[in-house]
Amino acid sequence: MAKRESAPTIVVLGGINMDLIATAPRLPMPGETVRGGEFYTAPGGKGANHAVAAARLGASVRMVGRVGKDTFGPSMLDDLRADGIDVTGVSEDPVNASGVAVILLDDSRQNHIVAVYGANAACGDTELQAATSALDGADVLMLQLEIPFEVSLAAARAAKSMGVTVVLDPASAAPLPPGSLETVDVLTPNQTEATFLTKLEVRDLASARDAAHALVEMGVGLAVVKLGSEGVCYASREESGDVSAFRVEAVDTVAAGDAFGGALAVALAEGAGLKEAVRFGTAAGALAVTRPGAQEAMPSRREVEALMARR
Ligand code: ADP
Repeated sequence: MAKRESAPTIVVLGGINMDLIATAPRLPMPGETVRGGEFYTAPGGKGANHAVAAARLGASVRMVGRVGKDTFGPSMLDDLRADGIDVTGVSEDPVNASGVAVILLDDSRQNHIVAVYGANAACGDTELQAATSALDGADVLMLQLEIPFEVSLAAARAAKSMGVTVVLDPASAAPLPPGSLETVDVLTPNQTEATFLTKLEVRDLASARDAAHALVEMGVGLAVVKLGSEGVCYASREESGDVSAFRVEAVDTVAAGDAFGGALAVALAEGAGLKEAVRFGTAAGALAVTRPGAQEAMPSRREVEALMARR
């Protein structure tokens, strides 16, 4: 895909999280202590993942969100800065801890997860103002469902009035207030989220196509339904189609959808055609599943273009 003269500007308003992972031979029963194997931390949050995905693909990215006044906050911001992301729109919450997910993982990869949204759930007027000023001169606003939805919706309305494309990843699945999908230019649900939003059982390309059309009827400009290794179905009022997934050796599917979303946003902001933009997203998603982790798995532009050239 040809790169535009100047890098597109993407604003991400969303969740910033730290995963705290402990491995053990088996998961403990209530009240039981099990001796663990390893402990490690990994930066995540769908907002931060989208920001890293888009930055690695060449976009100029402005992150807006909230972290806690604890050791995780500065560390997560350092990680974002290391990818060249502007974090001046991220505030520090004086009371709430940084968002974390405490994850227990056993030898058969079964897990127990407690997600504490913390500072992410306290996003409000400060973040709305930061997002609104960050939108000046931006091409795309990326949103997810990990901060209070009314803040995202207000930012989406501001973006629309400024001619900025609104991309919403409706994850994790949650009911949306009536009429809110009309503010969304591009919606990128996975299979579960598409089923949840349309009440149609999405299980294959044919049912994904029906769901994509149903989402357009519900007010979305472009619906892109992600189907893991099956690929993607998309529909707008003018155009629809599907793109099959690249065949790769999958080692960890975490954040495949975030890689896809960041890449799709970059391609659309660069003015790529719809099918080409979706292909760019599927190449980024495929590369992300070949590596463990979330942000560390996000591919570079060179890697995505090399994979696209293979097909
Ligand atoms: P989410 O992570 O949001 O649930 P998906 O699992 O559907 O989203 O993955 C997003 C995209 O990443 C897919 O549409 C596909 O293009 C790519 N992808 C995911 N899993 C694989 C896989 N096993 N092989 C190749 N591509 C994949």
